Amino acid sequence: MVIRVRGWALPHGEHVDLYADGDRWTTDPVPGVAPVAEGWLVPGLVDAHTHPGAEAPGEALDDELLRAHLRQHVRAGVAVIRSPGLAGEPPPWFGTDPDVPRAWHAGPWLVQHGQFFDGWGRRVEHAELPAVAAAQAARTGWAKVVADWGVDDAPVPADVLTAVVEAVRAVGGRLAVHTQHAAGGAAAVVAGVDSVEHGMCLDPDLLHDMAARGTALTPTLSAITSTLATVVDKPEGPRKRWYVDGATAHAPLTAAAAEAGVLVLAGTDSAPHGRVADEVLALAAAGVHPHTALAAASWAARAYLGLPGLEPGAPADAAVYAEDPRTDLRALSHPEAVILRGRLVHRS
Ligand SMILES: [Zn+2]
Repeated sequence: MVIRVRGWALPHGEHVDLYADGDRWTTDPVPGVAPVAEGWLVPGLVDAHTHPGAEAPGEALDDELLRAHLRQHVRAGVAVIRSPGLAGEPPPWFGTDPDVPRAWHAGPWLVQHGQFFDGWGRRVEHAELPAVAAAQAARTGWAKVVADWGVDDAPVPADVLTAVVEAVRAVGGRLAVHTQHAAGGAAAVVAGVDSVEHGMCLDPDLLHDMAARGTALTPTLSAITSTLATVVDKPEGPRKRWYVDGATAHAPLTAAAAEAGVLVLAGTDSAPHGRVADEVLALAAAGVHPHTALAAASWAARAYLGLPGLEPGAPADAAVYAEDPRTDLRALSHPEAVILRGRLVHRS
């Protein structure tokens, strides 16, 4: 079945009239096909940091829950997810079934002994980390290393991360690294990883290095800010001080990253799923320009993952809005229509 959408295509706002017969946009008209939606067209949204398929840390991957989470993403206009860490091996339909987003994933989190959530991730010795990460990246394109965890935990050293980057690149893969402490963040930037996840407590002086090396930042700002609201009631101590200071500085850090030319990606890291619009709002509230905040959840994130936008030959994803969503980013939560792989999968 041929589908047609018409309207103003972001990022540039030119008027387009697009058809898809299957999973590719074309401008070749098909007689007798009326548009399923008209308005402002955004290439399908991207949640670049989400862990669907488990409700709480440590729980096993549940296929039914996974599909439910992915459908929540689709209803919110999300056509693409990146999962930097999953609770288990995803089923074959993950990322491919018609009703679920395209997906990139990094398999289990690769973590140091004595760190991270019990029951999640794979504990790996430093000496084994490059080979284990490369094997994962060879399978799924990405590996994810948790470079730091608790306040008193030693981070993965920069030379180890550098060796991991080299091993992962050697198989054509990319490396995402979790950091929430200054030392771990510095090690990740020095190593030249592909994406820094969270980046809380990152030294702002390193942002220019990140921009120069093409290291992306997925600040998961709305998740960190909402956790901050619960941490302020906790007893005083080093752990609380770390979180309050880091989370409080995180919005200005994120805005400074965008200003410095770092590619910022929108990632929610959180339940409920399908709330990437909240992350875009958080980015804008932090001072990221609305156009850039939207790019972080759509065309810029798609380009980062190798997917073109609303152009002939591109994968046929789109979210359609009645108004230009940049003028009121709250509208992002309510697409008029969602097209995924050339199919209308949701209509408001
Ligand atoms: Zn995460």
